[in-house]
Amino acid sequence: MKRISILGATGSVGQNTLDLIGRDPGAYEVVALTGGRNIAQLADDAKAMRADLAVTAHEELLGDLRDALAGSDIEAAAGQAALSEAGARPADWVMSAIVGVAGLRPGLAALEQGATLALANKESLVAAGPLLMRVARENNARILPVDSEHSAIFQALVGEDMAAVNRVIITASGGAFRDWPLADLAQATLAQASSHPNWNMGQRITIDSASMFNKALEVIEAREFFGFEPDQIEVLVHPQSLIHALVGYHDGALMAHVGPHDMRHAIGYALNWPERRELPVEALDLAAIGMLNFETPDVQRYPALRLAREVMRMRGLSGAVFNAAKERALDHFIAGAIGFTEMNSVVERVLSSHALQMPGTENDITLDQVTKSDHLARICADQVVRDINNRM
Ligand code: NDP
Repeated sequence: MKRISILGATGSVGQNTLDLIGRDPGAYEVVALTGGRNIAQLADDAKAMRADLAVTAHEELLGDLRDALAGSDIEAAAGQAALSEAGARPADWVMSAIVGVAGLRPGLAALEQGATLALANKESLVAAGPLLMRVARENNARILPVDSEHSAIFQALVGEDMAAVNRVIITASGGAFRDWPLADLAQATLAQASSHPNWNMGQRITIDSASMFNKALEVIEAREFFGFEPDQIEVLVHPQSLIHALVGYHDGALMAHVGPHDMRHAIGYALNWPERRELPVEALDLAAIGMLNFETPDVQRYPALRLAREVMRMRGLSGAVFNAAKERALDHFIAGAIGFTEMNSVVERVLSSHALQMPGTENDITLDQVTKSDHLARICADQVVRDINNRM
C-alpha cells in the first residue's frame, strides 16, 4: 500500500486528491491530513480515510479538532510545528497543496524524509526553488509537478533529450478580465476577480489568475523546476485553457499537452507516475470544441508578467520577496484596502525597494534567508499600502 499524506487536504487540490484516493481505498494508507479553518471537513476526511494524524494550522482550533475527532483514534495537532511534523511523518507520497509560502516548511519536511513530493504549492518553489531542489537532491527525494502547466511540460518531455528543447510555452486563460476595457480594471471588485472563466479553484489562485500573478509565479516555477533559461519561457493567452503547455524542440516540433479543465488529471498523473492509470476525467470531444485560439498577452493589462522577468533577472532571494509582496497585496485586495490594479504597484515597489539586498547567487540560499526576506517584504508591502491610502 502506498502511504500518503496531504498537506492542505481541505482545499480545492486537496479535495481532488482525496477524491482520487477515495476511489481506490485498498491501494492507499493515509498517514496525515492537514487543513486550516475548515475543521469539519478535515475531521470528516480524516475519519473517512482512517488517517493517523490530522493537523490544523491554527492552534486556537485544536480543541474544535479534538471534539470533531472524538470517538476515533486519530491524533490531533495544531500549529506550524505540527504542520511540519505532518510532512515529516514517514510516507511514500506527499501532496503539497497548502496555499502560499506557508507550504514551504511542511514540504521541506516531506523531502527530508525522502518522500515523493507532489507539488501544487507553487509559492514554495518561487520563494525557495534552489533550496527545495537541493533538499530533494540531498535526500534522494523526488518532486513531481502538479500545477497543470508544469505537469503538461513534464509529460511533453517524457523520453526526450532536454538539450533538444529550445522553448516552452505556458498557456494562460487570460483570467476574469481578459476582455475588459483597460480603463475599467481599477474598479474590478473582489467578487468579479474571484470568478474564473474555466477552472474551479481556491479563491486566492482565482484572483491571481485574473491579475496574471498566477502565470507570473508559473513562469518562475518553470525556471526553478526544469532549469529553463528565462528567454526560453513564453506565455500565450489561450482562452479555452485546453492546451496547458507546449514544449518546442530544435527540429521545429511543438509537443502540446491537451486535457480537460480538471485538476484530477495532473494530480492523478503525479499519483500514478511513472504509470498512467485510468482517471475519472472527461474525454475531450475536439470536434465539438471546434476551435482553439491564441493571443500574445497584453503587457499593459498584465504587468505581473513583466515583474516575473524582473525576478528571474535579479535572482537570489527576489522570488521570496516577490511572492511575499504578492501574497500581502492579495490580502489587502481581499480586505478591500486596495484596488485590483494597485496589487501590481505594491509588488513592483516592494521588489524595487528590496533589490539592493539580494545576494548575487541563489544556489546556497537557506531557509533562514528566505524567511527573513519574506518577512521584510511583507512589512514593506504593508507600508506601501499605507502610503497608497494616505495619498488618497
Ligand atoms: P485552497 O484555498 O482551496 O486550499 C488551501 C489549503 O491550504 C486548505 O487546506 C487551507 O485550509 C490550507 N491553508 C490555508 N492557509 C493556510 C496556512 N496559513 N497554513 C496551513 N494551511 C493553510 O487552495 P487551492 O487548493 O486552490 O491551492 C492550493 C495550492 O495549489 C496553491 O499553491 C495553488 O497555487 C496551487 N494550485 C491550485 C490549483 C487549483 O486548481 N486549485 C491548480 C494549480 C495549483 P482551510 O481551507 O481549512 O482553511
